[in-house]
Amino acid sequence: SDMKIITVIGSGLIGRSWAMVFASGGYSVKIYDNQPGQSAKAIVEIKKELQELEEAQMLRGELTAAQQVALISSYDDLTQALEGAFFVQECVFEQLEVKQNIFQDIERLVGKDVILSSSTSCLVPSNVFSKVQNRSRCLVSHPVNPPYYVKLVELVPHPETAATVMDTTHTLMTKVGQAPVRLRKEIDGFSLNRVQAAIIAESWRQVQDGIISVKDIDLVMSEGLGMRYAFIGPMETMHLNAPEGLEDYMKRYGPGIQRVLTSFGPVPDFCGEGSKGIINEMCELIPSDQQHLSASKDRRDQLLMGLAKLKKDH
Ligand code: NAD
Repeated sequence: SDMKIITVIGSGLIGRSWAMVFASGGYSVKIYDNQPGQSAKAIVEIKKELQELEEAQMLRGELTAAQQVALISSYDDLTQALEGAFFVQECVFEQLEVKQNIFQDIERLVGKDVILSSSTSCLVPSNVFSKVQNRSRCLVSHPVNPPYYVKLVELVPHPETAATVMDTTHTLMTKVGQAPVRLRKEIDGFSLNRVQAAIIAESWRQVQDGIISVKDIDLVMSEGLGMRYAFIGPMETMHLNAPEGLEDYMKRYGPGIQRVLTSFGPVPDFCGEGSKGIINEMCELIPSDQQHLSASKDRRDQLLMGLAKLKKDH
């Protein structure tokens, strides 16, 4: 069919990850970057990473690393990069104007059925696509870093996005092994970052109010809530935690949850004087120099890889 070619716009961290994910699903991926030579460099990086993944037996998809590398090509010319594509995944800088302009350029060069998808983390579709004429084919497909191991993709529609565009993208993401979820309408922060903000705020307040240490609030997540959340979410957790399910759970625990919620403090000040103690406490655990940070990031990525493997087998 003619649904074989995907163009990735921007070859940074996220662009490279998307290219690997799409190639693992057998799609031809054309990478474009407006910095000449940048997308060619990205392919060198991707090749190295795919070979390492193959050696670690963590390569996704049915194809070998060499076969996946062969599916990926690089372009310094936008017109050539878009030729033949049915789907465009944008991964340029997180700046509204940069995104608005690149989508305006892209729309001039592709047919009206080509799906235009943005990786934006923080910008809502109605802003990102405001310079596009035909917005029914536009949506945000927000990945989580690193997409190769953390598979969630939030599909966020523009108010004018066609249902078929959401469906086609959902099918595509599923086919390449990601875990897509649909938002029914756009909202600041989408879903994941809103939930994350709630967790950050309450964790920050507990440390700031002298209730718990930085180290221990992280353990509350990693040894407590996080143990479940890698497999089942808060809704299913509640449903399973009362003899007769969610309704029963809320009869028993709803009032307590409401009482606790009304005791939550205001939005914390993350940058003022009050933040210094928390930041110092964190930096005593992991100093914020490059050596310590990158060692901890390597550990995080190893652990995520192990967890991804575990989830694959379940
Ligand atoms: P990055 O800085 O690593 O890469 C951006 C790339 O885009 C660079 O290679 C740059 O040369 C290229 N670029 C910039 N303007 C361009 C243009 N007009 N045309 C073509 N290429 C252009 O950034 P990143 O971390 O890969 O983030 C990309 C997008 O993905 C952002 O919108 C970001 O919010 C989103 N995102 C990032 C993460 C993350 O954790 N890094 C997670 C989810 C989503």
